Amino acid sequence: MPPNKRPNPLIDKAPGLQRVRHLLAVSSCKGGVGKSTVAVNLAYALHGQGMKVGLFDADVYGPSLPTIVRPRSTDLFSRNELIVPLEAEGVKLMSFGFVPTAPGSSGAAIMRGPMVTQVINQLLTGTDWGELDYLVIDMPPGTGDIQLTLTQLIPLTAAIIVTTPQELSFVDVVKGIQMFQKLKVPTIAVVENMAFYECGQCGHRDYLFGPGVRNRIVEQFGIHNAFEIPLWSALSQSGDAGRPVLLEQPDHVVSQTFVALARAADEEINRLQTGGANPIARFVIGRGVVLTWPDGREQDIDPATLRRRCQCARCIDENTGQPLLDPESVPDDIYPTELHPMGNYAVAVQWSDGHDASIYPYDFLATLAAPAVG
Ligand code: ADP
Repeated sequence: MPPNKRPNPLIDKAPGLQRVRHLLAVSSCKGGVGKSTVAVNLAYALHGQGMKVGLFDADVYGPSLPTIVRPRSTDLFSRNELIVPLEAEGVKLMSFGFVPTAPGSSGAAIMRGPMVTQVINQLLTGTDWGELDYLVIDMPPGTGDIQLTLTQLIPLTAAIIVTTPQELSFVDVVKGIQMFQKLKVPTIAVVENMAFYECGQCGHRDYLFGPGVRNRIVEQFGIHNAFEIPLWSALSQSGDAGRPVLLEQPDHVVSQTFVALARAADEEINRLQTGGANPIARFVIGRGVVLTWPDGREQDIDPATLRRRCQCARCIDENTGQPLLDPESVPDDIYPTELHPMGNYAVAVQWSDGHDASIYPYDFLATLAAPAVG
């Protein structure tokens, strides 16, 4: 089932979302990594490619949209019982930060988790978004209850994860991918922000926080859309000035990276909708895990071999790359209890030994599988 066709009672009750084709989450494990900066520039990059775009700031505790983009008018009004979104340079906008709070009220600060998700929900579904190709959702930072509940409530098509290249960020990215995976929302791209600093004089690149995690993301999860954005003063200045860098300096290489991200996200989502050229994986007693490719070719994989090659955080040390799983501990007769596709790039497997964190990119499976029936 295409991810955006998940049955969702919320969308039936939300007339404002009826004509939105794709809801695309931009998420991060921590605050301050540049998630909102990426969400805003991504929205304008999609708009620049001729699409109808909205941007929803789901961060109730720290709404940043009103600072990063300044619509000419911030007066909110309603029409047919729905809030009319604000608009700046052709992109529709909504944020808790645009909603006037009573003087002296402590606003979101006093709200607890369930109230927060309710408020976000009401604002999202009570806004008249009209016809949109993409509604970009700037998620609240983290992978806790609020984020999980929101991911359950909002019928997301896909997610993009933003991180910085510090040592622990690989673990953070994995947490994000797994949170979305639990609800069958594919992660289609990873953005490493503040990845390096480029000297304005000589062009030398300084990777201040090390080489980053992009290669490991590609290898382990098969997510090929991995982008890096440098530390760049114009990004923070444009954020403070209320005009996205993509509009200020459209030809700059950083703006072009946002354009490439938008293009990759759109292509990936279109591929997801059409099913792509990926195999279907199933378990067949006597054969093991059987991959059926669109051209009819079938490949068999021994389940015990697959289980022993699991790359998850419990089986491989994320920081050293050393194996944590003793291959001897995997019984030869192990079998998958559940196999389901993860987006366009991998299959997630639950095993009869109770292990439920295995993710195998199709690229990787293709290297394991021995061709069988033609
Ligand atoms: P988050 O949404 O993750 O909390 P923001 O997008 O609000 O993060 O960014 C936090 C701060 O860092 C903002 O002031 C923003 O302008 C600045 N910033 C983000 N990315 C960069 C970058 N690549 N270079 C310089 N400043 C950046």
